[in-house]
Amino acid sequence: MTTPVIAIIGAGPCGLTLARLLECKGIDYAVYERDESENTNRAGGSLDIHPETGQRALQECGLFDAFKKYARYDDTVLSLLDKSGKQHLQIGQGRDAPEIDRKELRQILLDAIPKDKTRWGHTLTGATLGEDGRPVLQFANGVVVSGFKLVVGTDGAWSKVRPLLTQATPQYSGKTYLEARINLDSPLYETLSKSRGAGTTISVGSGTPIITQRQGNGSYRTYFGLPVPADFFKSGGKVGLQDAEATRGLLLSDFYADGWSDDHKALIRHATDFRTWPLYSLSAEDMNWTPVPGATLAGDAAHLAMPNGEGVNLAMTDALNLADKIAEHGVENIDLAVREYEQEMFPRGEETISEGKAMTGIMYGEDPQPFVEIFSAFGAGGDGEEGEH
Ligand SMILES: Cc1cc2nc3c(=O)[nH]c(=O)nc-3n(C[C@H](O)[C@H](O)[C@H](O)COP(=O)(O)OP(=O)(O)OC[C@H]3O[C@@H](n4cnc5c(N)ncnc54)[C@H](O)[C@@H]3O)c2cc1C
Repeated sequence: MTTPVIAIIGAGPCGLTLARLLECKGIDYAVYERDESENTNRAGGSLDIHPETGQRALQECGLFDAFKKYARYDDTVLSLLDKSGKQHLQIGQGRDAPEIDRKELRQILLDAIPKDKTRWGHTLTGATLGEDGRPVLQFANGVVVSGFKLVVGTDGAWSKVRPLLTQATPQYSGKTYLEARINLDSPLYETLSKSRGAGTTISVGSGTPIITQRQGNGSYRTYFGLPVPADFFKSGGKVGLQDAEATRGLLLSDFYADGWSDDHKALIRHATDFRTWPLYSLSAEDMNWTPVPGATLAGDAAHLAMPNGEGVNLAMTDALNLADKIAEHGVENIDLAVREYEQEMFPRGEETISEGKAMTGIMYGEDPQPFVEIFSAFGAGGDGEEGEH
């Protein structure tokens, strides 16, 4: 295998968008991904794709029609409840931020680049600078590669490219989401699909939010928010997630379920397929590093933030911005292209990190009112009326 001009580490939304854009521009690249194949069942829920960012990137990729085949405009509705089940807000029906499952987005992008451009089963374990001052990549399968004009770390939260550029590491927020599923064959499914219907429902509790989100196949993902140590659900932690009954028991105890309505408790009782998402974030101050010839970061690797609905959109915007700069300056001036990209990316990163922190504070708050104010201000087309849900 020859050394490509550009190495992209990670076949997530950012890396694959960049790959597709480079493919369209005729610039040589390869994607190195830890998953063994494209069939690896990568977890993660539905994503809303915004017009000026994610949708624009898909348009530039020439993939907007492919996206529209999967885009769910009926799932844009957002409802806000309190612990008792009282609805405080419902907005966003038909807004231009359609949902797509992560798996489908990945497939659209993968189908748009030649198969031999993705090197599956390549887990990057480390990146160092060689004698020429440019990156050398070491993979878990023993492969060591160098000689690229540029290495782009799009390898997400725990990027192994990041240490080449900055000492910044993600810090734990003190908050975790426990993800679970209510599948189509769940005894609760019919009731839930009638009561929750389309879109996303956020229920604000006392520091313990519950989010329910309809997926592409009609099933639901539920996120139970908990203010617990990062290792709470890990081995050696308080509860092992492989024991679903014990996990449900913990959530049904006063520790969590106190004050929640019967409908919310039913979600816990029927939850399956638990998975933990401890929320980590970089800091806004980290969004500034001295350029390193031949290396950069994009997407979560550059500006990991707590969830704020922008993560995937900004990841795809980074890819678009970087690809445009490379095309503008040419591969021979790639370090200049990267410097300009980074100067434009840093403010985006700072903003999303700050927003993620603020949004998580509100989600894990006691009171639905700050939420009502933020989302009403968006004027997202809802009636904003309170009512029973
Ligand atoms: C609970 C939760 C809910 C979220 N909800 C939303 C939402 O509703 N909307 C939204 O916009 N965003 C959401 N996000 C954020 C969003 O998922 C990310 O911002 C987005 O996926 C970033 O894309 P990325 O390509 O930069 O990184 P990732 O999606 O993390 O992709 C990284 C890729 O790199 C690969 N990789 C990782 N390490 C290595 C390695 N060492 N070697 C090789 N390959 C590697 C991974 O396998 C993966 O394919 C959510 C995040 C969380 C935690």
